[in-house]
Amino acid sequence: MRFDIMTLFPEFVDRVLEESIIGRAQKSGAITVRSHNIRDYSKDKHRRVDDTPYGGGKGMLMMAPPIYDCYEAILTEFPTAEKRHVVYMSPRGRVLDQQKAKELSSYDHLVILCGHYEGVDARIIEEIVDEEISIGDFVLTGGELPACILVDAVARLVDGVLADPECHEKESFSDGLLEYPQYTRPVEFHGRIVPEVLLSGHHANIDKWREEQALEITARLRPELLEKRKK
Ligand code: SAM
Repeated sequence: MRFDIMTLFPEFVDRVLEESIIGRAQKSGAITVRSHNIRDYSKDKHRRVDDTPYGGGKGMLMMAPPIYDCYEAILTEFPTAEKRHVVYMSPRGRVLDQQKAKELSSYDHLVILCGHYEGVDARIIEEIVDEEISIGDFVLTGGELPACILVDAVARLVDGVLADPECHEKESFSDGLLEYPQYTRPVEFHGRIVPEVLLSGHHANIDKWREEQALEITARLRPELLEKRKK
């Protein structure tokens, strides 16, 4: 799967996404991530990409033409995608969840637009964006962190990114529940002992215990997930 990120701060997203599992997945070729500096597509001699909003109001808006030219360059560089989806990271978008991440992992090309300042000219959204996605009901200074979060959440569902694909089949949200508690060595830590059942080697009992724990934790921390699961 390929991700192209349109941003004013390409080094920001590169630095985050070249680390750890996502970085290794890029090196192994399981995913490709490219960042593009929208400023490179400005026709202004000072490389300006923003201007004041029509009708007045505070702050600056990112102009449509440099973003569009950046998008066209991406399509020229990678024209072959059969399933392409263009996302604008935006606080007014649908809030990202595991189901949406799974859905997005079925595309072979995700193009992500990061806004800055007061956001982007509405016409670029109409022209190129398929979907606006938010990472939560709060406002950040730019779309770069949200884009990194989106790439991480989607990429780890792509074949070959996690060493063991079963990892994401049994974790929080995969079946509408939060994950059960997990333990590793040592058996005793500050007087707290690993639950006996996990040391028993009895797999049926371990599965039963984990399911009960997942239900209990979900009921305690996120009861609305249980309601959603019933529907
Ligand atoms: N004026 C916009 C509004 O009120 O909706 C906020 C613009 S925000 C300061 C600048 C950029 O940060 C946005 O264009 C978007 O790309 C990104 N951003 C901020 N909060 C976000 C969130 N919760 N989810 C996704 N992107 C966000």
